[in-house]
Amino acid sequence: AMNLTRHFKVGGSLFTRPKTLRAVEDVSLTVQKGETLAIVGESGCGKSTLARMLMRLIAPTSGQMTFEGRQIDQAEGRALTELRRDMQFIFQDPFSSLNPRMTVGRLVGEPLETHAPQLSGKDRRAKVGELLAQVGLRPEHGERYPHEFSGGQRQRIGIARALASGPKLIIGDEPVSALDVSVQAQVINLLADLRDRLGLTLVVIAHDLAVIRHMSDRVAVMYLGKVVEEGPTDEIFATPRHPYTMALLSAIPEAEYGRTRAQIPLTGEMPSPIDPPAGCRFHTRCPFAREACKQDVPALRDTGIAPGHRAACHFFEEIAAEGAMPLPTGG
Ligand code: SF4
Ligand code: MG
Repeated sequence: AMNLTRHFKVGGSLFTRPKTLRAVEDVSLTVQKGETLAIVGESGCGKSTLARMLMRLIAPTSGQMTFEGRQIDQAEGRALTELRRDMQFIFQDPFSSLNPRMTVGRLVGEPLETHAPQLSGKDRRAKVGELLAQVGLRPEHGERYPHEFSGGQRQRIGIARALASGPKLIIGDEPVSALDVSVQAQVINLLADLRDRLGLTLVVIAHDLAVIRHMSDRVAVMYLGKVVEEGPTDEIFATPRHPYTMALLSAIPEAEYGRTRAQIPLTGEMPSPIDPPAGCRFHTRCPFAREACKQDVPALRDTGIAPGHRAACHFFEEIAAEGAMPLPTGG
């Protein structure tokens, strides 16, 4: 069918005993078919927890998730197997996620046993060769073991394995952050290329805005378990509205986005998600914090700049008017 829409909503919080760890709190996100959504934030902001809930590796405490109109948070048995075929995961550390005693050919072919059991041995080997070619590896690489490959090649193997089931959605949890900077761009380009060729939908988790700058359509910025700003990637870079987003952007060298902007320093540590600050969770580090920020929880509100651009700050209008914003281009 044409014009399929993929809605993917999450709401909920994760509880661990004996204390309540509010890793993800009341997050709602939607990703459209063919789109790339980036989820960005410092480590501990809840983005990996969110990714694991999306993958059904852990259950949300409350809230719902839907995939192509089907509710998936309770999926079991056959429905869960189908979900595992449609949604695949790429891990941060490609080495730890690959069994060192299996050849690359077996690693990539293994998901086919579940998702394409009808294939003969010969057809399966042909399919493995095809998958390796898709990620830029050669058929003879299938005879080798993971330790014989570089970090970037191992991530390619992880991607080939993720592609084996013919997924519609791929979730990458910091897929390039363990790689050398020189290799990061190659893997990012490969993912973008596969998305376009195979019509994939991507959700990419990252702690670095620069990494996702050129590959994502939309960005959701998370802080202490909450989405503090979301919107089209270009708008987030050009006209950020949340002070935390401004601080993350201030950490990127200017050449990366080619604009002059006010520098918002990010001081101090992120507080613990156990017993997070009341009111705005960012108030302990925000240079614009006022009394009201300590009590009142800011809602995600439309910025009025672009459709879907929303920020959770009581005072973003005033902060923008006061000029704590990027200067106009060429100014
Ligand atoms: Fe800063 Fe207050 Fe806005 Fe939170 S609500 S980001 S503390 S100004
Ligand atoms: Mg993480």
